Amino acid sequence: MSDRAIDKTVELRDVRRSFVQGDAVIEVLRGVNLDIRANEIVALLGPSGSGKSTLLQAVGLLEGGFEGSIKLNGEETAHLSASGHTRIRRDMLGFVYQFHHLLPDFSALENVVMPQLIAGTNESEAEARAETLLRSLGLGERLNHKPSKLSGGEQQRVAVARALANAPKLVLADEPTGNLDEATADLVLAEFIRLVRQEGSAALIATHNERLAAKMDRIVRLHEGVLT
Ligand code: ADP
Ligand code: MG
Repeated sequence: MSDRAIDKTVELRDVRRSFVQGDAVIEVLRGVNLDIRANEIVALLGPSGSGKSTLLQAVGLLEGGFEGSIKLNGEETAHLSASGHTRIRRDMLGFVYQFHHLLPDFSALENVVMPQLIAGTNESEAEARAETLLRSLGLGERLNHKPSKLSGGEQQRVAVARALANAPKLVLADEPTGNLDEATADLVLAEFIRLVRQEGSAALIATHNERLAAKMDRIVRLHEGVLT
């Protein structure tokens, strides 16, 4: 595999997805093409229902039923088994959702340690990394707080730290600040972008907020099933 191929963290060609609803077939993705370079932060814009989440599920190897080519870090994923998809998700992807999905019985620190332990990092290393990430997001005084003792913005910062815990090549985020008030959303997104840049990851971030999208390296828009 050439270095040139690896420079492309994401390479989508003619990705298609439709859903059958009763007698109707809804064609949500109608031939999506997208390249994302290593270290590039791309905003995915489109109104509600345009297929942003569906596209992120394709890139995140979270669902089947897609047609076309999905290459991640130069590797074609279309014909891999479920365990192949699991390996790629574990080794190169990080996810942030609109709702944080933190483990409620575990502290902020533990929530960021956990994915590292699953990936085989030893506990002391995982704790040190979790603490560094949380401190850099301004949560140094919140390490031992459970999610219910954190504000919405703080919870989402922990989710950001968790997504970056295993130094993923690619971070996928589905309206990561969609559940926060405007001022908090701006702050959390700015921190998120800063940390992604600092870590050298690429990112694809769905949002319907033009103002937030303008802070990223590039904007792509989903319109009638294709990217413009
Ligand atoms: P967005 O994230 O941009 O709001 P989605 O990707 O969630 O859009 O949805 C795009 C379209 O696909 C919507 O019309 C939605 O109803 C439809 N859709 C998404 N998932 C399913 C599903 N599992 N079954 C049927 N239709 C779906
Ligand atoms: Mg969505």
